Amino acid sequence: MNILFATSELVPFAKTGGLADVSCALPRALSQLGHKTCVIIPGYKKAVQSGQNIWSVGIDFNIPIWNKNVKGSLLESRLPNSDVPVYLVLQDQYYDREGLYNQKEEDYSDNCERFVFFSRAVLEAIRLLGLEIDILHSNDWQTGLVPAYLDILYRSFQRYKNIVSIHTIHNMAYQGVFWHWDMCLTGLDWEYFTPLYMEFYGKLNLLKTALTFADGVTTVSPTYAKEIQTEGFGCALDGVLRSRRERLQGILNGVDTDRWNPSTDSLIPVQFDANNVFEQKPLCKTALQQEMQLPERNDSPVIGIVGRLASQKGIDLVTEVMPKWIEEHDVQWIVLGAGDQWLEQRLQNLAERFPRNIAVKLTFCDKTAHLIEAGSDMFVMPSRYEPCGLNQMYSLIYGTIPIVHETGGLTDTIVPVTPDTLANETANGFRFHDADVNGLNWAIEQALSCYKNDRETWKKLILTGMKRDFSWQHSAQEYLDFYEKIRAKK
Ligand code: ADP
Repeated sequence: MNILFATSELVPFAKTGGLADVSCALPRALSQLGHKTCVIIPGYKKAVQSGQNIWSVGIDFNIPIWNKNVKGSLLESRLPNSDVPVYLVLQDQYYDREGLYNQKEEDYSDNCERFVFFSRAVLEAIRLLGLEIDILHSNDWQTGLVPAYLDILYRSFQRYKNIVSIHTIHNMAYQGVFWHWDMCLTGLDWEYFTPLYMEFYGKLNLLKTALTFADGVTTVSPTYAKEIQTEGFGCALDGVLRSRRERLQGILNGVDTDRWNPSTDSLIPVQFDANNVFEQKPLCKTALQQEMQLPERNDSPVIGIVGRLASQKGIDLVTEVMPKWIEEHDVQWIVLGAGDQWLEQRLQNLAERFPRNIAVKLTFCDKTAHLIEAGSDMFVMPSRYEPCGLNQMYSLIYGTIPIVHETGGLTDTIVPVTPDTLANETANGFRFHDADVNGLNWAIEQALSCYKNDRETWKKLILTGMKRDFSWQHSAQEYLDFYEKIRAKK
């Protein structure tokens, strides 16, 4: 199959979250399985300056945006360690900025226009580059217009006739909702501005647009696929998703094992695998304590956290329980994250109050993220919802025991400790049911008690986690099966 993957984030060009990891790993895995795959992203300043080898394709084009023609051009690169082409849509007025979507927590006011341009450029690039495409795979609201443009504006041309559109939801909460006059920017007829297609309570909704036009829809874990069809998790689009359930599937993300593998990871001080984890991992713990300027104590349990500081991630719950576990068990908390200012402030205050037990780093830092995964004893993810989550999988691979809320992809990857799961050697972490302080405290208590009093079980959990195969080959095959299924329906 020939696959074009349209995305607003891509490692190592531009990243704010997990979408960037998926956008690199999935196309590479599809290509390794023998399918011709390419990726297209906006030519952000960060991407152009990412240090990757990038060259001009020598193609300029115009996109009509309401009453003007906006000029763009195409650059080309490759995914690292592969021959997968990456195309970058260059348009300096839209993308030559510091952030991808916002600056200092403030969304760019022309975000709709920026991604209208990009989505239409994706369709134009197919023609301009002479690509023969079977599957056009778009992601999240930023490329939500891609399936609509395909059906409404391009389908009648031979090159586009048989293209199957697939759209993946990485997070239902971000929908790309804009005031209704932005419909003019899309160049699409007002006849589509109805609740059946693009309208959402009087506004334009780009994720909804994708969900109604795409031939097939996926999301990033089986449990999240079920959850988003309910009122509690559907963010007011659960009805749309239920109406498309025959064409909706949850496929668990894999892990990019080129980047996340403790036996080859150059970002950690000591490499290790399941054979020497118990000797080597403590050295990573010491290095982490040094790096974060905490006392180098091997007997203090280290609990790590990496992630966006947003209410979704439940880090506010962690801030409420930190003092209790410091007082009772001398826990060392290490937090790496950036996001909501009030949360950053709260974490900063706690770190000042407990300098020997709490270290926070309020930036985005890949190296520290790797060191935390390698050096922590436990990793907490109390997400209120979690479409898939990557860090709990990284934790397992690095022999760090996850403590997670039972939701979405966390449910699909973490098998909680019970007598049965211990007996059949599937237990790999701790899971709590209610996303509140009591739930979180309950799970931390379980984990710390096992860590302190039952080392044999603890070691078993580590080995079970490290042995689980999260490679992308498996998930990529599921995507291929889904592509085929939707193709057959068409
Ligand atoms: P989301 O996409 O909701 O942010 P995921 O768990 O799917 O959450 O993916 C988050 C990715 O971003 C992971 O690879 C994680 O390691 C990384 N990440 C998040 N915050 C930071 C940070 N402050 N520094 C380094 N990496 C981070």
